[in-house]
Amino acid sequence: MDPLKALADAERKPYWLDSPAKPEPRPRLTGDTAADLAVVGGGFSGLWTALMAKERDPSLDVVLLEGRRIGWAATGRNGGFAMATLTHGIANGLERWPEEVRTLEHLGLRNLDEIGETVERYGIDCGYERTGELHVATEPWQLEEMHRNAETAREMGVRFDVMDAGQVRAEVDSPTYVGGMWERDGCAMLDPAALAWGLRRACLEQGVRIHERTPVRHMRETPTGMELLTRDGTVRARAVALGTGVFPPLLRRLKHFVVPVYDYALVTEPLSAEQLASIGWRNRQGVGDSANRFHYYRLTADNRILWGGYDAVYYNGGRMKPEYEQRDATFTTLAEHFFTTFPQLSGLRFTHRWGGVIDTCSRFSAFYGRSHGGRVAYAVGYTGMGVGATRFGANVMLDLLAGRQTERTRLRMVREKPVPFPPEPVRSAGIQLTRWSIARADLNQGRRNLWLRTLDRMGLGFDS
Ligand SMILES: Cc1cc2nc3c(=O)[nH]c(=O)nc-3n(C[C@H](O)[C@H](O)[C@H](O)COP(=O)(O)OP(=O)(O)OC[C@H]3O[C@@H](n4cnc5c(N)ncnc54)[C@H](O)[C@@H]3O)c2cc1C
Repeated sequence: MDPLKALADAERKPYWLDSPAKPEPRPRLTGDTAADLAVVGGGFSGLWTALMAKERDPSLDVVLLEGRRIGWAATGRNGGFAMATLTHGIANGLERWPEEVRTLEHLGLRNLDEIGETVERYGIDCGYERTGELHVATEPWQLEEMHRNAETAREMGVRFDVMDAGQVRAEVDSPTYVGGMWERDGCAMLDPAALAWGLRRACLEQGVRIHERTPVRHMRETPTGMELLTRDGTVRARAVALGTGVFPPLLRRLKHFVVPVYDYALVTEPLSAEQLASIGWRNRQGVGDSANRFHYYRLTADNRILWGGYDAVYYNGGRMKPEYEQRDATFTTLAEHFFTTFPQLSGLRFTHRWGGVIDTCSRFSAFYGRSHGGRVAYAVGYTGMGVGATRFGANVMLDLLAGRQTERTRLRMVREKPVPFPPEPVRSAGIQLTRWSIARADLNQGRRNLWLRTLDRMGLGFDS
């Protein structure tokens, strides 16, 4: 199938946000107000923080400020894989925090359980399905790595089922698969925009005041707390939680730790019953392939396929621009790979294409902290796996603001910061060399060159 033909009619917007369920915006902030807690950012990070603050203490006065619309950024345009992992996979966790990876795995699974319970409790219709993730290998070296990961996971009491080519193709049928591994409990599939809008409704029902189209321009300390300055108003708050993701941080120190990485995705038209039968997929798992440059794919509620990943693009200088959300070369590559994976779907058309920005940090999993004498807390750096983990990060921020020692705040993973990225232009040069090296490793049985091995030793990395 000619990829350009398949893409010809695809709209240039995120599939999930293109929905009649999108709510009307809440009013901008005008004038001055006061609150116990001010949350900045209306992505998953800010929404979970605001909601759980009210759940912990319903008497708390909470205000949430979002610069544009709730869920418009990474939160409303991702793959919708809500993963249990808090460490960007068990292998990364084991590498960095071997002594606490078992605890981290269990906290992550509990966090995912609690996301499911919240969805149920507030009646959020976001297609939540705890189907797990099928990791597929398209090269023998990837399968060997899976066996090693499954063994580690088993030791942690986590169930990963390794499968041969026949078994994995009985789940999802692609001639490119040589084997796979089904991580049954560790992932739920959902519609991320619907979840964000559902959390927004839950916040409002609990009494959170939400202002959209209200970018916070400046944050400063006052004798009694913090002050957030916006164009038309000010919020005075005893405490502030920052869920601002990849965007220019209100705390300058954070800019050394996070770089913007663009990730791209496509969605097809709905599959007919025969098309779906030709690939199987009765258990509706999320699927990810296992090279360093990986694709992720899944079914939507109406049996479209969302297909994304592979190219993780860093624009030199760390620039972010609306036009970067469209990248035709990447869309063509993605479409080509789609038809190589599923030749039986030749003729299928794509209806949507888009990109979004990931807040990558050098340890691939979020980091946390406080400033201004404990009045401000932040959680950023989710590196492409924040759909589930932002809820854990929100709980960490609330623990930090409460000044409480908990099983979360005691973790070394929570107390430590990642290695900062070097300043520009060394940063851009280093990241582009790393991207090139990663692509070469995939062509070379996963073997890592000297540059990647050096970065590994320094605990520095680049991922999506
Ligand atoms: C294409 C793509 C696919 C992905 N797929 C997956 C996936 O399948 N699974 C997964 O786990 N993760 C995935 N991710 C990552 C995931 O989407 C993010 O980790 C997660 O949404 C981060 O949420 P957040 O709230 O921290 O950030 P965001 O969603 O970026 O929200 C931050 C919000 O803060 C607001 N803001 C920032 N600064 C200010 C300010 N000064 N004043 C007011 N508001 C401000 C912004 O407007 C924005 O709405 C993907 C990301 C992309 C881009």
